[in-house]
Amino acid sequence: MPKILKEILIGFVPVLLIFLAFIGVNIIPVLLAGGLMAGLLIFAKMRGGIAVGASSDRKRKKGGPSMLTFDEIGGQDHPKEELMEALNFLIRHEEIQKYGIRPLKGILLTGPPGTGKTLLARAASHYTDSVFVAASGSEFVEMYVGVGAGRVRDLFRDARTRAQKENKQSAIIFIDEIDVIGGKREGGQQREYDQTLNQLLTEMDGIYNSDSPRILLIAATNRKEMLDSALLRPGRFDRHIQVDLPEKKGRKHILDIHAKNKPIHKDANMDKIAEESYGFSGAQLESVMNEAAIYMMREEKVEIEQRHMSMAIDKVMMGEKTDRESTQEEKKRVAIHELGHAIMAEIVRPESVSQVALTPRGQALGYVRHNPQEEQYLYTKEFLEEQIMIALGGAASEEIYYGGRSTGSSNDFEQALNIVQTMMKSGLTSLGIINIDMVTTEELMKVNNVILEQLMTRTRITLEQHRHIFDQSLEILLTEENLSGEQFRCLFRETSRLPA
Ligand code: ATP
Repeated sequence: MPKILKEILIGFVPVLLIFLAFIGVNIIPVLLAGGLMAGLLIFAKMRGGIAVGASSDRKRKKGGPSMLTFDEIGGQDHPKEELMEALNFLIRHEEIQKYGIRPLKGILLTGPPGTGKTLLARAASHYTDSVFVAASGSEFVEMYVGVGAGRVRDLFRDARTRAQKENKQSAIIFIDEIDVIGGKREGGQQREYDQTLNQLLTEMDGIYNSDSPRILLIAATNRKEMLDSALLRPGRFDRHIQVDLPEKKGRKHILDIHAKNKPIHKDANMDKIAEESYGFSGAQLESVMNEAAIYMMREEKVEIEQRHMSMAIDKVMMGEKTDRESTQEEKKRVAIHELGHAIMAEIVRPESVSQVALTPRGQALGYVRHNPQEEQYLYTKEFLEEQIMIALGGAASEEIYYGGRSTGSSNDFEQALNIVQTMMKSGLTSLGIINIDMVTTEELMKVNNVILEQLMTRTRITLEQHRHIFDQSLEILLTEENLSGEQFRCLFRETSRLPA
């Protein structure tokens, strides 16, 4: 039964009964029948183990015994190491007691979605031979004060009961999306949230090393900055482990893990796929392998080839090809827009374009694919400005050819704005070294506009100087609907030799 319906019923039934009693209806048989049903329900619940709140399939699946090991998690070497070290405290509890070390009560995993935080928690329960009980922060959110707190109590009780029943020495409780209940308390009308968080803090304070079974709480969030400081203080979540997007070696490892149960062609180069999937999370990489197998089946092949995986990367990055039919005029505008990006990219980063396509995908009517660049963790101001100029290339070329822009640049502008924000936070703008919260929106807007206007002018001037490349490539792109990086570079080189 949906949660909201259940809550309405809980509120409605007593009111109905009082009303019936008030108008003289005998409600005793109804009360007896209700009591009997409630008794039966409680009995059934106890036999099936106490579930946290309403029992859903998702919860039961997540709460099952975990067979997942750390070897089945790709990349993430550092988080795995840190987590294992923390888990050794749980395993070697007698030793740490001897040295007077207090046990770890909570481990907080933070990082972007799909990077394997849930997997790490499940592997932790396997590593420590613990019972695994999982819940998500949103499951504790209720309309009625006290319900969420009750569920937190049930969760801890459930973990202890299950560990005793299964004869385990320890239990790991995993709470995903902890920010939903663990957000900063601001003293507003959030009594229910506060009570839930208070109950969680109380339960954490009640974890002792001498307890049997021993309890370890692992929580995950994408928004650590939202958490209440009471949760983050020592003695609560003692260890914070950052789970980042995987680097190339990690991506290759994850791809290999998800390729294990699939037929891969012997010539397929997984290194190349790992390189092309820069910025992908583990979940996206899993999806790449899955989509590649679907492409293979569609073509009635028996092995996944390199191109199936490349096609899958495009799909995961930009969505499935769509059948959207655009008019000839629209197609020309898209071609000019995409050529603007491609020419600008080839000027500032030679050899970087891998494909220019007019095929509609997801929300885009066309796209430019870039060759993977070497992974970088530090960016100079010049590099970031060039990135903005590549993003503005589409709108600038529409201005050159049509005298104005279209709605097709909104994603490009979003990208450019994000880069400007990074520049501001890193002290690379005329604002100097700032905390963004200390500067007024007007000031930020002013600097933002100056940067983008200047870069837009530079982009337009550069593209004007290369107008002959547009003239040369436009017809070919409109006919073929696709230019490979090599084809595009040939045109680029040929036309660059022509007098401008
Ligand atoms: P969220 O923050 O959205 O809850 P998460 O970080 O908990 O995400 P998981 O649920 O652990 O992510 O991962 C989702 C799926 O992505 C996994 O079931 C798995 O298939 C794949 N995956 C993610 N990271 C890895 C990894 N490091 N190795 C192997 N598979 C991974």
